[in-house]
Formats: sequence, C-alpha cells, structure tokens
Amino acid sequence: MSVTVVGSIAFDAVKTPFGERERMLGGAATHFALAASFFDEVHVVGPVGTDFGEQELATLATRGTDTGDVERVADGKTFFWKGEYGWDLNSRETLDTQLNVFEHFEPKLSKASRDCDVLFLANIQPELQRRVLDQCGEPQFVALDSMNLWIEIAREALVDVIARVDCVILNDAELRQLTAKPNLISAAREVLAWGPSVVVAKQGEYGAALITDEGFFALPAYPLETVVDPTGAGDTFAGGFVGYLARRSERPPSAATLRQAMAYGTALASYNVEEFGTERVTRLSSEEINARVDDLRRVTQFEHDPILIETG
Ligand code: AMP
Repeated sequence: MSVTVVGSIAFDAVKTPFGERERMLGGAATHFALAASFFDEVHVVGPVGTDFGEQELATLATRGTDTGDVERVADGKTFFWKGEYGWDLNSRETLDTQLNVFEHFEPKLSKASRDCDVLFLANIQPELQRRVLDQCGEPQFVALDSMNLWIEIAREALVDVIARVDCVILNDAELRQLTAKPNLISAAREVLAWGPSVVVAKQGEYGAALITDEGFFALPAYPLETVVDPTGAGDTFAGGFVGYLARRSERPPSAATLRQAMAYGTALASYNVEEFGTERVTRLSSEEINARVDDLRRVTQFEHDPILIETG
C-alpha cells in the first residue's frame, strides 16, 4: 500500500506559554507525512520556495518519504503561518497566513503519487484538493482535512470535494461551522449524508470521536502532564489514523480497524505536542508508539458493573 498527501509544507512561527520558535518546519502535509511514514510508503505533493533548505527537505524525507513531487518554485517563498496559544492550549490565534507558492500552484503528480492506494487531502485550498483528487487513479480510500479559513472563504468548493471522499477529519468546531449544526452528532450525520462513510471529530486535549453510519466511538487524548506546542497535533493524528488504515489492506475498514486507527492517531499526536513543531516526532520510534497504544488500551478499559443495572 502507499499513501499520497497534498497539503501545506510550511515555515511556522509559534508562541506558546512555554516558549517560541520564529521559523520552524511545519505544515499540514509535513506533520502528516512524519506520522504516516511509520506505517507505509508516503509520497508528498506540494510546492516550496527557494528559502526551503536541504535540511528541511531531509526532515520531510524521514523514514523514506518520497519528496519527488515537492516542487521548488523559482523566486518563490514557502507558505508561512504564525500563531499564538494562551494558557488554554485548545484554542489559538492565527496572526499571519501567507500562501506564497501555494497561490498559483498547479499540482502535477508523478506516476508513483497518482497510483497511491490511499490519498490524504490535508488542509489547503479545497480547489487544490480537488485538482489532486482528479489526477489520482482510483485510490481505495480518500480522507480529507480542512479548516475554518476555507469554510469561510471557499465553502462550496469544500463541500464539493467532501462529497467525493470516504473520510472527513475535522476539529469539532469546524464540523459545526461547516454544517451550521451546533450538535456534534447531527453535524457529523450531515457530513455522512454528503457522501463520506467515516467522520472523525478532533477535540484537542479531550481526544477524538469517530462517527459512522453504524456507530460512535470516542477516545480521550493520551493523559500527558507536559504539553509544549499543540501545532500539528491534528495532522499528526491524521497521519497515524490514515497511515494505520493504509497498512491494513481491508476495504472498507471494519469498525475494529477504525478503532485501532484512532488509538494510533492518538498516540502519535501525544508525542507531537511534547515539543515544538516536528522536533519530537522526527526522532520517535515505533516501540514508543506501541507503548502508548498499549497504555491507551489500559487507561480506557471499561469494566461492566452489573450492579448498576439491577433493579428492585
Ligand atoms: P494543526 O495544528 O494540526 O491544525 O496544523 C497546524 C499546521 O497547519 C501548521 O504547521 C501550519 O503551517 C498549517 N496551516 C495553518 N494555516 C493553514 C492554512 N490556511 N492552510 C494550510 N495549512 C495551514
């Protein structure tokens, strides 16, 4: 199996109560690829500017990720995002977004990227997501992420592309905004009615919920005491979730496989937030991931107590 991802490859400036970085490697596709590369072969599609160095490219290529479709645009500047978090790390303020090379990007996928089994349309303009989807052969599973900016300025294009994917992974607030439904379950049901068969609602430090036509499943976030920088947690979750589904060739994924994928996404995201940007996940090991997946199984164990339902 192989996974192709299109999305932002970025320089991020981030400030949290625990420190700041003025310019670090970031972007939705970057965080996704670093996580998904634990499970499968990953191809990254997207433009960077002349300011993107060999070292950043090498980080993107961690664990064998193919960067052949990372296009260096002459005289261009890499996508830039600046954000700040307060003490509530679940909410952040975007201070600057510069699309730069993404503004006039025309994706041209190599055969290896086009022939992927699984496609992840990470957060970027919905129109670009559509153009990548158009070029891919017949991926067995397509997942998509987006954000408030695109819901605000390109909702129609986003809804059109959502209708063509199998799985939507969004923050719970974005799901509500997208569907104009304040209740998370009815918001997810609305998205399922548009075409996808799986909706994942990311809920920051509270975990993530999975909604399908068959049922509902939720996992809390891994119980961490130290969170330094949540940037990229959502994309890292998606990389673990989609990467795990790619590795298991079962199509469509069963409810049990989807639950396992939730655990891998959750474990990977928990490592991502322990340090700034890509710092922690770049040097992560699969043993460390498995250890947290096992912990999650233990932490979330639910013992049925029949006394609770005894009456009379
Ligand atoms: P997350 O924290 O998982 O939501 O993702 C954070 C990443 O999204 C950062 O590394 C940013 O570079 C990237 N990002 C922020 N705004 C945008 C945007 N408008 N389009 C695409 N990527 C973005």
